[in-house]
Amino acid sequence: MEISAAHQLKLSYASKCSRLHGHNWHVRVFLMSRELNADGMVYDFSEIKHKIHGYLDHGNLNDLLPFNPTAENIARWIVSQFPQCYKAVVQESDGNVAQCVDEEKIKGVENLVM
Ligand SMILES: [Zn+2]
Repeated sequence: MEISAAHQLKLSYASKCSRLHGHNWHVRVFLMSRELNADGMVYDFSEIKHKIHGYLDHGNLNDLLPFNPTAENIARWIVSQFPQCYKAVVQESDGNVAQCVDEEKIKGVENLVM
């Protein structure tokens, strides 16, 4: 999904990223389950979009998220939003991509539906 949102980073070093600016973020969310639910899904796509895109799009991430809104922290937050989510990829611009993988969620799981 694509999310238009602003952020301003609190950093321990001088950086232009400390000034308020915006990105068209590209976000990929990966979910898995041992089994499909009664509707034949792992999770409804539109519900995922609602929880992530619906909450963040056209917002100021500093106001919406309770942490320094780096791409890394955003990816970790997305993984924490769904028990079935084991990975999120957050791209803030060309070549600037962060990925979070929760290895605890995938450890020992066989016969996955992804
Ligand atoms: Zn930025």
